[in-house]
Amino acid sequence: MTADIRSLYREIIVDHNRRPRNFREIPDADRIANGDNPLCGDRLTVYVNVRGGVIRDIGFVGNGCAISTASASLMTEALLGKSEEEAEALFGRFHDRIAGPGSGAQGTLGKLEALAGVREFPARVKCATLAWHTARTALNAPGQTASTE
Ligand code: ZN
Repeated sequence: MTADIRSLYREIIVDHNRRPRNFREIPDADRIANGDNPLCGDRLTVYVNVRGGVIRDIGFVGNGCAISTASASLMTEALLGKSEEEAEALFGRFHDRIAGPGSGAQGTLGKLEALAGVREFPARVKCATLAWHTARTALNAPGQTASTE
């Protein structure tokens, strides 16, 4: 990874932490789940509205470190408008890239690539994947709490 790309990725994370996208409750959300990463103290709630199998609206609120907030923000942008099947596939690709045994498929995740650097820091992997586990729980088992422990 070149220094230019590294600094671009850093900028994306800083920007999404400072100004998280879709940082809001959705009052009429039909899928809601909480996420808890006790290792770091990250806690968030993900709200999703699904109509006809497609994610029509998604938002989150909570408190966490820069990585968890930026990851949740980037995730809401990535999942908006996706079908539930596409969301599941993207979760798999993201998880492989961040926490898989190999290095995952590089360069296929767009802006989400900004988070791939955390794979070198196992403790931060849970920060980066918390929002995704929570969104997945919201889609598959709404009302449950996703924990990284
Ligand atoms: Zn964290």
